[in-house]
Amino acid sequence: MQKHVVILGGGLAGLSCGYELVQRGHRVTILEREPHVGGMASSFVEDGAEYWCYDFGPHRFHSKDESLIDHVREIIGEENIVHAKRLSRIVLFNKFFDYPLNASNVVRNMPKTLLIKAFLDYFWVRLLDVFKLRHFTDRDFESWTTRRFGATLYRIFFGQYTEKAWGMPPSQISADWASQRITLLNLRDAVMKTLFRPKKGNVPRTLVTDFIYPKYGGIGELARGYARRIEAAGSRVLTDAPAIRVLRDGMNVTGIEYGRHDRQVVEGDEYVSTIPVTALAKALSPKVPQEVERAIDSLRYISIVFVYLKLNRGNVSPDNWVYLPEKHLTVHRISEFKNFSPYCSPKDKTMVCCEITCRRGDEIWRASPEQLKSIAERDLISVGLIQAGEVLDVVVKKIPYAYPVYDLEYKKHLTPIMDYVNGLGNLKTTGRQGNFRYNNMDQSVEMGRKMGIERATGARTDHERVATGKEYFG
Ligand SMILES: Cc1cc2nc3c(=O)[nH]c(=O)nc-3n(C[C@H](O)[C@H](O)[C@H](O)COP(=O)(O)OP(=O)(O)OC[C@H]3O[C@@H](n4cnc5c(N)ncnc54)[C@H](O)[C@@H]3O)c2cc1C
Repeated sequence: MQKHVVILGGGLAGLSCGYELVQRGHRVTILEREPHVGGMASSFVEDGAEYWCYDFGPHRFHSKDESLIDHVREIIGEENIVHAKRLSRIVLFNKFFDYPLNASNVVRNMPKTLLIKAFLDYFWVRLLDVFKLRHFTDRDFESWTTRRFGATLYRIFFGQYTEKAWGMPPSQISADWASQRITLLNLRDAVMKTLFRPKKGNVPRTLVTDFIYPKYGGIGELARGYARRIEAAGSRVLTDAPAIRVLRDGMNVTGIEYGRHDRQVVEGDEYVSTIPVTALAKALSPKVPQEVERAIDSLRYISIVFVYLKLNRGNVSPDNWVYLPEKHLTVHRISEFKNFSPYCSPKDKTMVCCEITCRRGDEIWRASPEQLKSIAERDLISVGLIQAGEVLDVVVKKIPYAYPVYDLEYKKHLTPIMDYVNGLGNLKTTGRQGNFRYNNMDQSVEMGRKMGIERATGARTDHERVATGKEYFG
């Protein structure tokens, strides 16, 4: 029997879920708040006198699963695929350091007194740990990383960047973040990986040397490919259609009220939500109990302002992205779309996306494009990446729910919300936002597809286990 499934959110998780359902003869209605599909993996195209395309920061698609890569190639369209080289580095002391850390590169570039201090600190912390002279708790980001890299390397490469990107001390961030984020086990592991590359088939995400990317249109081509196929199958992908109220009778969802001015209600046989789980719980009508409401208000997100600078020069660097951890700089990372596909910018010009993390409503979030341009231009000049007078134009975009904040208390707040939402009989949550997780695009696609197959066939797919391991989240 054909089902009608209403899906909240038109990012990769929602769209890939819808795609698998329509492939199996079911009908979906996807409600997307923004005027475009793609969520965080959206892209924007300017096709006037000059062609420019750009994403929300850098988006590299990696997966060890060859069949998933083939699926993505098919959705984007084989004729629109390029192979890009993977390179990301850290700028410190006006020098480029490889990321993930490469021991010989660290030895070459680091000021020598600091290098000696880093090694002494490392051996000291290992001694304390191995002979159990100090009790390490692995409770927070700072203690987890210091234990494995020593105090100096922690501060230079991990601590200052994390504090800047999160806007909070690393001692207040859960160690879950470090264990998922840092692929290297410790300094010894960095040395071993410099000397011996892992065997083929066992290469971690961070050491993959190339990746696929759309030739034209940016990463949003994947989402647009899904949307086209869903619509071609007779289902609906509604943009500019925010879900406002999730109507329910007890723990059964009866419909979704959506729209900006002209509100409508859509009813389904089942519902899948990929919107932030906090937004979903807030939208439930009647409201959730007070203790769940309090938990919702305690979970936090980091927002990002993207400042895109169009530059009058062919290239800034060969990197996909460059981290700028130093505290005196406001920008924390830049990316250059030409290094994903050479067709993203005019030949003699380039575009750099400068990311600045913030909290929704703060000074950075409210800053004008002119103010943001001055900040980004000043930072890039100060580290020698561009020169004065090269900026031609600026574009600004923002994401409110970019990173879930894994503070020391997040699990305490997340658990009652997830328990409550999971109690809804005919609504399931998935995707990065639906799970308050740090997954990548491949994981959102995998979650969405598994969820779609499960809704379509009733067979268990273990969608909830995707991105729960100790894996790298880029
Ligand atoms: C700066 C940055 C860089 C990244 N780089 C990489 C990378 O290099 N490689 C990689 O694999 N991954 C990367 N990621 C992660 C990747 O973007 C995400 O994992 C993926 O796009 C998440 O897809 P999703 O569908 O799960 O969530 P989302 O994309 O967040 O989709 C949720 C959707 O719900 C919509 N929505 C929200 N509220 C409502 C509402 N009330 N009603 C209707 N719709 C609503 C949103 O607009 C959005 O479209 C990066 C992320 C960021 C922020």
